[in-house]
Amino acid sequence: IPTVPIYGIPFSNLTMQETVQWLTDVIEKKQETHVITANPIMVMAALDNTSFMQVMNQADLIVPDGSGVVWAANVGGQPLKERVTGFDLLHELMKAGETRGYRVYLLGASPDVIQAAHERLHDMYPGVQIVGSRDGFFGPAEDEAVVSEIALLEPDILFVARGADTQEPWIAKYRHRLNSTIMMGVGGSFDVISG
Ligand code: UDP
Repeated sequence: IPTVPIYGIPFSNLTMQETVQWLTDVIEKKQETHVITANPIMVMAALDNTSFMQVMNQADLIVPDGSGVVWAANVGGQPLKERVTGFDLLHELMKAGETRGYRVYLLGASPDVIQAAHERLHDMYPGVQIVGSRDGFFGPAEDEAVVSEIALLEPDILFVARGADTQEPWIAKYRHRLNSTIMMGVGGSFDVISG
């Protein structure tokens, strides 16, 4: 993947269409992949915090979610082709999953929000199998139960919405045990979809 470094973090230099193509190939090959859709706040957090930088470094694909990232790349003289937001990428992957029958698990947000987002996405993308969903308000003591439930369902895509500071370290910690091909943090996306 072509990348552009921003403060040392390698952002993928792909259009949305190229990103979706790369990720559908990844699903076909069942190649475990952590996608981070990063904004400037996450870049700053990584520069400030070694363990968050390690989380960024173990990701397989870092896409430029924020317009500030695209701006910084321009200023740095190595422009990025396009801004690729997590929200748009979620929808593009669901669209791609329509014909391919992807198995998708939705994790995060409040119980009301995740239930509404589950129903809404099911109506929008009937060809996608939403194999499960649960809210994102649980502590480390419940991690084992959550990880086991997801692992049994073997999703092609696991979307996690628990806020950037929680969702990305959580994926990095459990990625090898989740039996999921693509794992991607989606921040506040379920709140937007549910409303
Ligand atoms: N969230 C969650 N568990 C938590 C904290 C947040 O599921 O312990 C959800 C929250 O309900 C929202 C999403 O994570 O749907 C993003 O939260 P927020 O906007 O606060 O995080 P940010 O994207 O600003 O980091």
